Amino acid sequence: MSKREFQTEVNQLLQLIIHSLYSHPEIFLRELISNSSDALDKLRHLTLVDEAYKSLPFDPRIDLELDEEKKTLTIADTGIGMSEEDLISHLGTIARSGTKNFLTQLSGDARKDSNLIGQFGVGFYSAFMVADRVEVVSRKALEDKAWRWVSDGKSGFDIEPAERAVVGTTVLLHFNDEGAPYANSWRLQEIVKKYSNHIAFPIFLTYDKSEWKEDEKKSVKTRTTEQVNVASALWRRPKNELTDEDYKELYKSISGDWEDPLFWFHTKAEGSLEYTTLFYVPSKAPLDLYQAEYKGGVKLYVKRVFIMDDAKELLPQYLRFIRGIIDSEDLPLNVSREILQQNRVLTSIRTASVKKILSELKNIAANQPEQYLKFISEYNRPLKEGLYGDFANRETLLELIRFKSTKVEGLTSLADVKSRMNEGQKSIYYITGGAESLLRTSPLLEIYKKKNLEVLILDDDIDEIVFSGVEKYGDIDLKAVNKAGTGDDLKDEAEPDKAATLKPLLDKLKAILGDRVKDVRASVRLADSPSCIVSDDEEPSMQMQQMLRAMGQKDIPAPKPTLEINPDHEIVKKLLARPDDAVATDAAWLLLDQALLMEGVPLKDPATFVQRLNRILNLSI
Ligand code: ADP
Repeated sequence: MSKREFQTEVNQLLQLIIHSLYSHPEIFLRELISNSSDALDKLRHLTLVDEAYKSLPFDPRIDLELDEEKKTLTIADTGIGMSEEDLISHLGTIARSGTKNFLTQLSGDARKDSNLIGQFGVGFYSAFMVADRVEVVSRKALEDKAWRWVSDGKSGFDIEPAERAVVGTTVLLHFNDEGAPYANSWRLQEIVKKYSNHIAFPIFLTYDKSEWKEDEKKSVKTRTTEQVNVASALWRRPKNELTDEDYKELYKSISGDWEDPLFWFHTKAEGSLEYTTLFYVPSKAPLDLYQAEYKGGVKLYVKRVFIMDDAKELLPQYLRFIRGIIDSEDLPLNVSREILQQNRVLTSIRTASVKKILSELKNIAANQPEQYLKFISEYNRPLKEGLYGDFANRETLLELIRFKSTKVEGLTSLADVKSRMNEGQKSIYYITGGAESLLRTSPLLEIYKKKNLEVLILDDDIDEIVFSGVEKYGDIDLKAVNKAGTGDDLKDEAEPDKAATLKPLLDKLKAILGDRVKDVRASVRLADSPSCIVSDDEEPSMQMQQMLRAMGQKDIPAPKPTLEINPDHEIVKKLLARPDDAVATDAAWLLLDQALLMEGVPLKDPATFVQRLNRILNLSI
């Protein structure tokens, strides 16, 4: 037997793992199973590509054997195995430069250090969290000799010749106090299902199963071997081997949804980064979609090993309705949530995944319009949220979002709106701020109707916030009809300037309404109504101001609308000709109040409004 020291870095790492790293020691099993799975992957690969290995028997499996009395567990695989040198170099030094660099950066502050370590794999050494003695017996493929490596995780390791009937590796753990709870078959099954259910190889557990024997009237223990995992990482199989039923079953098992998904997108990326993604769109929006405490629906795997779910970093917030799996080859197994946020590998996967999801949706929109409408009826709004946060994909999102409009029944796309634009039309127009019925009857739309211009009806409560930040669709301006500046588009060059004729009336109205209005102007956008209100281009609309105040923003200044009046309307013409008197004053206030009412803004002083209305009624009856 030869005694060897651990490399200094290994000692450092062991100290760190044991004293500060894991709040869940149970992950030792995930790490060891993952090593076995890697070893099986390696041997399988060689048996496929290398002549020397082709004739080797290959019965891939991972066997866990529990001895509850002795408090030991073995994890045995039929993988590639390790030679004497392998054992010395792999389980006695730290070869990977990343981990070495990391160790040199250690500050000595256990809490900070344990955060840092999430970036690197610690793998095998995590066994010393739960065991005070670890034995590894391994026989490498194509070799006859086997070797035993033994360590207490403190004073280095011993190595000696050993016997092993077949190629592979067995890790024997002697549980310490920390590990004692894992000398329990229930616990082990639970952990395997949680972390390693989709490891591609079968994992068997051999343990003493208690069964009640009716004839003996007592419970009897029988040594039993059972497969614990489902052993199929479906998403790793090529698409053409998978049926729709396979996809649907997996969806139901990971999402807990009873219904079939609407669509799924399965991608395998190879190149500088290797990963597989399988994303599902549920047929009904998740119930917590609009709750601040929503649960993310994408699970992160590393090399088929489950790492975490509900990781909100995996996709942008607006895609929180997506369910599915990201399985990366390049992340370390013990990557933590904190690290995910700034991890370069994950950032690339995320960017590519968003692009993929959006482009698949575009395909569906183009080729399966009916299915796409089902999608839109559930998810139009989250896509709009994306306009607000995901600038890189704004154009694509604009193409995916659907709109109500004055020209068509149902919903329409911006591409279709563009194709219907009038000759010489420079902008696409929309109206926001209130319920659909209110918007559709707004006086602001009159001129658009007259000029046969299409207007989008944006009646979602987030529309104004979202669309006020979106200035263009391609090279076409997007303009809100309730903004003062938008009127300039509609001026008829040929028409005489009516503002000049109207000037005396405008001045009179300004004097009467005083500081209740910002300005009074001649309107170019009205046809049937005498007046309307508009907001300054950079100001939130009246409705938005109302909403902000309702949400508790008390410091919003009192709204000051600009009143526009229709130079061609009978009332306005009569008012222009009328001397200054009480009737003119009442009429001025009524022009403002009715415009506010039409925009859904409640009146400050309904009593006075009604008195004025009655005085005028009295005169006309
Ligand atoms: P990692 O798995 O992240 O490389 P580990 O410390 O877990 O780090 O393992 C170090 C190395 O030991 C592995 O890269 C592998 O070469 C070898 N090894 C560990 N477990 C096994 C096993 N069951 N079979 C074959 N080789 C193994």
